[in-house]
Amino acid sequence: MQADFGAPTGQSLLIKPKLFLLAFEKGYHTAMNKAPPFWIAKKLQDMTPDEWESLCDGCGRCCLHKLRDEDDESLHFTSVACRLLDLKTCQCTEYKTRRRKVPDCVTLTPDMLGDIDWLPPTCAYRLLADGSPLPQWHPLVSGRAESVAEAGVSASGRCISEREAVEFERYIVKWPGEDPTVGAQNGARGNQRNPNGRNRL
Ligand code: SF4
Ligand code: SF4
Repeated sequence: MQADFGAPTGQSLLIKPKLFLLAFEKGYHTAMNKAPPFWIAKKLQDMTPDEWESLCDGCGRCCLHKLRDEDDESLHFTSVACRLLDLKTCQCTEYKTRRRKVPDCVTLTPDMLGDIDWLPPTCAYRLLADGSPLPQWHPLVSGRAESVAEAGVSASGRCISEREAVEFERYIVKWPGEDPTVGAQNGARGNQRNPNGRNRL
């Protein structure tokens, strides 16, 4: 927040300590009185449908196929995308009617978040369910949808459609289970595809 001290254009700005203190206190109290955004103020269970939907950053990672090892139940991400995923925009091309063509597409709800282990570590649903804040690149924080791709979180440009992939095992990759902004390999906790409709194995 910047305070306007009425400095004439082109003149140097000298701030008297008392003036600065008053301006600081004014800004401080304004910030303190400002209501926190819904993703901080509300529990996931209390959010409206629109608020819940807006948590999705559109990364497309949960629309990628996952494989579950039959022996040890370990989860493996692949770069093979659901047939309905637009590989460039990472949007579901038939979101409202997707279940007709992809019956196992999972619609995420707050109650199921504790039982699934396949959401990527960057996913807002997983972050908030774990008590973590939304990252700076999240569109709700940055105010820009492009910040998802800029942060290296979007699946755009690095997947193949299931219409073309033959053996999914050949496309096992780690990046959907990693957070590129911290360089950590936070493995996903589960198994399936994307929310609010977009998760299935
Ligand atoms: S539900 Fe999560 S993982 Fe899936 S597209 Fe939205 S933010 Fe990405
Ligand atoms: S939302 Fe579901 S149906 Fe749509 S692309 Fe993602 S996984 Fe496929």
